[in-house]
Amino acid sequence: MTSASSQAALLERLRGIAGAAHVLVGDACAPYLTDWRKLVTGRALAVVRPGSTEQVRDVVRACLEQGAPIVPQGGNTGQVAGATPDGSGRAVVVQLGRMKRIRSIDVENDTLVVEAGCVLQDLQDAARAAGRLFPLSLGAEGSCLIGGNLATNAGGTQVLRYGNARELTLGLEVVTADGEIWNGLRALRKDNTGYDLRDLYIGSEGTLGIITAATLKLFPLPVAQRTALAATGSIAQAVALLARARAALGADLTGFELMSSVATDLVLRHCPDQRLPLAPGAPWFVLLESSDTESAERAASRFEALLAAALEAGEIQDAAIAESIEQSRALWRLRESITLAVAAEGQCAKHDISIATSRIPGFIASTDALLRQRFPGVRSATFGHLGDGNLHYNILQPAGTPAAGFVEVQQDLSRLVHDAVRDHAGSISAEQGIGGLRTADLQAYEDPVKLDLLRRIKRALDPAGLMNPGKVLPVHGCVSPG
Ligand SMILES: Cc1cc2nc3c(=O)[nH]c(=O)nc-3n(C[C@H](O)[C@H](O)[C@H](O)COP(=O)(O)OP(=O)(O)OC[C@H]3O[C@@H](n4cnc5c(N)ncnc54)[C@H](O)[C@@H]3O)c2cc1C
Repeated sequence: MTSASSQAALLERLRGIAGAAHVLVGDACAPYLTDWRKLVTGRALAVVRPGSTEQVRDVVRACLEQGAPIVPQGGNTGQVAGATPDGSGRAVVVQLGRMKRIRSIDVENDTLVVEAGCVLQDLQDAARAAGRLFPLSLGAEGSCLIGGNLATNAGGTQVLRYGNARELTLGLEVVTADGEIWNGLRALRKDNTGYDLRDLYIGSEGTLGIITAATLKLFPLPVAQRTALAATGSIAQAVALLARARAALGADLTGFELMSSVATDLVLRHCPDQRLPLAPGAPWFVLLESSDTESAERAASRFEALLAAALEAGEIQDAAIAESIEQSRALWRLRESITLAVAAEGQCAKHDISIATSRIPGFIASTDALLRQRFPGVRSATFGHLGDGNLHYNILQPAGTPAAGFVEVQQDLSRLVHDAVRDHAGSISAEQGIGGLRTADLQAYEDPVKLDLLRRIKRALDPAGLMNPGKVLPVHGCVSPG
């Protein structure tokens, strides 16, 4: 699609499908064209906000006919610029925010059917109102959409107990890259009918089709929760505490988050309403949470016994147990503000990595030392979901230095980190996906046979190569030859 007349014809078709008020052009597109981290700004022919699955299908068909690239977008909170169009101005951004209905809740089957544009927090609230828990939980839950969560196979803070988005999903409705509607909204916990398309579309980051609805699993609401912040002297002690907490609490351990003091200091500096309820000085903090399905007394006694044993064993030096829901929320706010505080601090090389928990102390010791040697003055604002072996291994520019100098060395720095991840048999993308920022890393660090299979899947399901081109796989690796 190159000529002005075919672009005008496509815009006219899109207006006919979604209604003129829901087809944004020109300056009105601006809020949808820059990624959350403000690293990439693209251009688009239009931003379309369809109101139904049929409208999504018709938008995809119209784009296909005119050869216009399609960029699905949810809440635009992704960390790897996956929902941002390129600079050509040819793409149509399909933003799902109007499709936010909860279609049905089946309390007996513990399932719920929701449209892709529902804000995650609204979905959690709807489940709670029905007396159930939808456990997916992350810092962006007030603005990310469930379709985006599924497209990125989001993780978050409860993976330890409930699994990531893929494990919370029973069925999907998808508009395929060919413009067909696949109704896979089954609410079954067993279904071995052929290849698992659901699991293929989940985590495909908008490169294979557009998720329009999902059947999700619900769980019993916990009767009582206990939350604590503990200070620990080393990452090895934090890993020992994790093993102790797993053994003591089993499935009741629902959160185990690690924060370096560099990360908590950033929160205290950039979010003046926050405070650390422990004496400063510890190099690491752990946020633990247990959820009990029996009673508040049982929750309290098991949790306190765990912390007392950890203190005695020297795994923690101090701990603050939340005595109210407000105090518990304040502890979680501290943890969830880190991403915002890091963004406010300045240039940061971000790495979303996973490594077997047993190998994390060795990884951090050796990689921190290498970084200090090669890039003097950089600061490791490490935090993350230690219970899942997932760290946000964030390296900040040296304090008081110009951003430009750090931008120049970021590529070398990230290569050092990802080489170390590979040497520790880890993954260079634990929960945020590949998007447009990590395509070169995927090519560099993934198994070549796997990469070939990924390219063949892309060609088979998106033969025109129009579905979020350049994301996950580089464009030249996606489009079918000839
Ligand atoms: C403060 C903060 C904390 C965060 N914490 C976490 C965390 O703990 N765990 C975690 O995993 N992530 C986290 N994230 C990252 C982000 O919130 C998640 O990746 C989230 O799942 C993205 O949802 P979204 O609706 O914003 O998607 P978007 O950013 O809009 O899109 C993300 C990707 O999905 C595709 N996409 C979106 N909707 C659809 C659809 N309906 N069909 C097909 N493709 C689609 C897009 O094309 C893009 O490739 C955090 C982000 C912030 C800002």
